[in-house]
Amino acid sequence: MGNIQTMSTSLANQIAAGEVVVRPASCVKELIENSLDAGAKQISVTLREGGIAQIVVQDDGAGMDEADAQMAFRRHATSKLFHERDLVRIHTLGFRGEALASIAAVSRVTLTTREGGSEYGVCVRVEGGEMSPVEHVGATFGTRIEVADLFYNTPARLKYLRTVQTEQAKSVETVQKAALSRPDVAFTCQTEHHVLFQTPGNGDVRAVLAALYGVGEAKQLLAIEEVTPDYRVTGFIGRPTQGRNSRAQAHLFVNGRPVRNVAVHQAVVQGYKNRLMIGKQPVYSIAIAMDPSLVDVNVHPHKAEVRFSEEADVCRCVAGAVAKALDETLLAPTPEGHR
Ligand code: ADP
Ligand code: MG
Repeated sequence: MGNIQTMSTSLANQIAAGEVVVRPASCVKELIENSLDAGAKQISVTLREGGIAQIVVQDDGAGMDEADAQMAFRRHATSKLFHERDLVRIHTLGFRGEALASIAAVSRVTLTTREGGSEYGVCVRVEGGEMSPVEHVGATFGTRIEVADLFYNTPARLKYLRTVQTEQAKSVETVQKAALSRPDVAFTCQTEHHVLFQTPGNGDVRAVLAALYGVGEAKQLLAIEEVTPDYRVTGFIGRPTQGRNSRAQAHLFVNGRPVRNVAVHQAVVQGYKNRLMIGKQPVYSIAIAMDPSLVDVNVHPHKAEVRFSEEADVCRCVAGAVAKALDETLLAPTPEGHR
């Protein structure tokens, strides 16, 4: 008799969860992505104790039928990717089929969902990977997912969470990025006590920026645009005087996905050509649209990092767009006498 055995599904999910779910903000990100993939036009995110005690994401998307509501929690179960050939041309935010299985392995999840045309909603509870029988319930169209007591069964992970304030800030930043990436979707972000921000969902990025940072700040931002055969760079950048001490207001999106990329950040800074004060970080929300085959989003389970096949081209394009907007505004003669 050998010593090797296949581990149980719930243990495998709990281990895999370590990569996908690090903190409340990771759950918020995955749940919002699912809502967007489901075609939601309104998404509300509610955080209790910074999301540590509870996260509720409610959407008005396509919803799920009874069978899918149960399938959704299986690892590698997805409605978005079936063939290897599709992996190079991903159009949805999710595709790994891991998020719900992972979240449900380390928390108490309640899913309530109702598909268009269905007369009732279905409700499923999953606790530590164990699913309760499905119930038929009254529900509005769309999906509501409640994640309670994150890491209640993995004390080691719970210990690594920071303060309620820090966890909340990270979750809110995640909602902000989602709202900026999808100005056509109305986002509400609230705590158990009050609404933190609400975006109109009218398609206007500047309106989202106004909701996040205030109307006065948003008004000052400069629009940028640069189009080449391969790339389309659009968005808003701060004036040099709007520089910040951190990168918290530096947002980059590639094909609608919030990402981090050091080279592109450097390109933005370069575009300012020493106009930023030393030590200050630029404020920006920049979206790059490009052929999906020129960018690899499958670098990391969080999908937060991307690899460009032609990084230098992308950076040149971004730096050029930033420099052009600043030059046009700051070097233009201003009859009113102010810059
Ligand atoms: P992935 O998003 O990678 O497919 P998930 O574990 O996040 O994997 O979700 C599994 C499946 O559950 C999705 O493919 C989708 O069919 C369904 N699903 C999850 N969330 C929602 C939602 N908010 N609305 C509709 N369907 C959803
Ligand atoms: Mg997903």
